[in-house]
Amino acid sequence: MVDLNKYVQYVKGIGPKRAEKLNKLNIFNLKDLLYYFPRQFEDRNNLKKIIQLENDEKATIKVMIVGVSASSPRKGLSITKVDVRDETGYAKLVFFNQAYVKNAFKPGDTILVFGKIKKEFKNIELSSCEVEHLTNDPKNTCKVMPIYPLTYGVTNKEIMGILKTVLSDKELKIQEYLPTKIIEKYKLCSIDYAIKNIHCPTSKESLKIALYRIVFEEFLILQLGLFLFKNGVDEVCGIKFEEDKKLDDVLKSLPFKLTGAQDRALHEIIDDMECNKAMNRLVQGDVGSGKTVVALLSLAHCVFNGYQGALMAPTEILAEQHYISLTETLEPFGINIELLVGSLTKKQKESVLQRVKNKEIDILIGTHALIEDKVEFKDLGLVITDEQHRFGVRQRSKLSEKGENPDILVMTATPIPRTLALILYGDLDISIIDELPPGRQPIETIAIDKAKREKAYNSLVRKEVEQGRQVYIVCPLVEESEAIEAKAAVELVEELKLEYFSDLRVGLLHGKMKGSEKDSIMKSFKNKEIDILVSTTVIEVGVNVPNATLMIIENAERFGLAQLHQLRGRVGRGSHKSYCILIYASKSEVCRQRMSIMEETNDGFKISEKDLEIRGPGEFFGTRQHGLPELKVANIFKHMKILKLAQQEARYMVSEDCKLQNFENKMLKKEIMDKFEHSIKEISLN
Ligand code: ADP
Ligand code: MG
Repeated sequence: MVDLNKYVQYVKGIGPKRAEKLNKLNIFNLKDLLYYFPRQFEDRNNLKKIIQLENDEKATIKVMIVGVSASSPRKGLSITKVDVRDETGYAKLVFFNQAYVKNAFKPGDTILVFGKIKKEFKNIELSSCEVEHLTNDPKNTCKVMPIYPLTYGVTNKEIMGILKTVLSDKELKIQEYLPTKIIEKYKLCSIDYAIKNIHCPTSKESLKIALYRIVFEEFLILQLGLFLFKNGVDEVCGIKFEEDKKLDDVLKSLPFKLTGAQDRALHEIIDDMECNKAMNRLVQGDVGSGKTVVALLSLAHCVFNGYQGALMAPTEILAEQHYISLTETLEPFGINIELLVGSLTKKQKESVLQRVKNKEIDILIGTHALIEDKVEFKDLGLVITDEQHRFGVRQRSKLSEKGENPDILVMTATPIPRTLALILYGDLDISIIDELPPGRQPIETIAIDKAKREKAYNSLVRKEVEQGRQVYIVCPLVEESEAIEAKAAVELVEELKLEYFSDLRVGLLHGKMKGSEKDSIMKSFKNKEIDILVSTTVIEVGVNVPNATLMIIENAERFGLAQLHQLRGRVGRGSHKSYCILIYASKSEVCRQRMSIMEETNDGFKISEKDLEIRGPGEFFGTRQHGLPELKVANIFKHMKILKLAQQEARYMVSEDCKLQNFENKMLKKEIMDKFEHSIKEISLN
């Protein structure tokens, strides 16, 4: 039996140099390597002719080499180009800084090439190519090709080669850890077969069998892990709030009537609060559906019952906004509200903390500052987190630990499909606000090519400003760092001031600014002292300026759809017709598709599902973000049926053996513990 914990550098065929590269991919031991699953599979039987190739796609072609040329346009850059053809046309393979490939290509040889297509008029180039020689090595063709999530200069070919060597070791046998009963019941292949065939599938059929097993296992382990760590939490007794009449007075004092959906959500919350089990509820409502007032009323109910409430928001701007609207409505009812944010002076902070502790403050609103150890409540009865997807599980639970089983409410504009919610939150109850307040005009969204950017600025922006409206311009998303993003934002402002809007008032908001700076900019914008607010995504959540009617998003293709939808939700908040202009700079088919989804629908739920389909749940509000082990192959949309089976089985297993201590389950439990190693603390406290 081969030891799976063996460091990769000691594995036959790897050695220290390759090990170093693998380490960069977070592969340290043999097990990491074997569980480094391909991201997708290319069916290379599906050959294309050159004439069929389309821009931006990845494809495999079978071609003959016509000629090879190399050039070095500047120091440190060498380009090797290989001319190839088939009976329908010509193409070029392009290799950067790989001069050695030159000798590998002999005119007249036939090769299979897999690469990324760039097509401009009749010019076709393939880059990031993988080549298989058919002339020299006709047996070489792998029918289903695993594609690994690669980075750090490790090529797919290298990984494939390494795995091929490792898996060809006859000694290698991976020990089964799923109970035999389950293997039989769901007709799963062994883990040994699955691992071997996911990396080196011998046929499409064997790959399918392998994938089924891995997907089932991933779901089962995730679900069992959650059950194991949540055990015991279900039974928590909470505060039993009493009905009170004052809440009706607050309702009557509002400038509007609740929508049917708000009313329903509020009653579900109040019912929870008035029963003696601790509330654990998620309120899900699209941007602008009016979640704040629901939070406000729940907090009022809590205070009228003699308890304190806390409301946590992801940004200072948002916290302050909540503070203002809650104070306006609730202060007349004798409720004391305070704001706790990072930008307070030490003295101000101390005073707030003291008064919270003495219960002179009924509702404390704030950012992450709320979860600091120094914050102590006397009688915390209700904890609300706004835009919960911005917080980790751990942060949320830290806040609720400040009371004795307070009721918990989380609010989100990100529509989470029910199945995923069940995985992530287990026994969490969900209220859905699926109705917008009356009188809202849908936001009209238009996607335009970057070439028309100037026109958009000169006509659309000016038109809105002339009518007394205000405009948001969102800078391109820079993922590397907030600092680079801030720099880009500063540059954009300079450009806009210089080229387009020298006569208008342009403001800037980015993540590197101090809280107080951000606040003062936001205040000026609210007070109409700024016409155009250039901002990074810090503007994404919750900000409410009804006079802003136009949003322009630069390089919209870099954002996720759900994020675009959130951003767009900053306009269309008043009675004026609002617009969102998405400027894109990509000609790819995927980009076009995504832009048209944004143009066609204002329904956050639909958009979110599309986004998940395109990007995969792992990246989005994926499991990783919630501190859960990542799903590597399983996809909650694609594999919905398997997910349901696994969930069912998990539920059954814990009902039979709640701690998974049976002989049969022990191995599996070890596997679960391994996977949950990093997240155990966070989850067990949820
Ligand atoms: P979100 O759900 O995105 O947090 P908000 O709570 O910020 O939405 O509400 C958006 C706007 O709608 C606010 O200006 C709020 O005052 C207003 N609003 C909320 N409920 C209603 C209602 N029932 N009728 C009219 N306007 C409402
Ligand atoms: Mg909100």
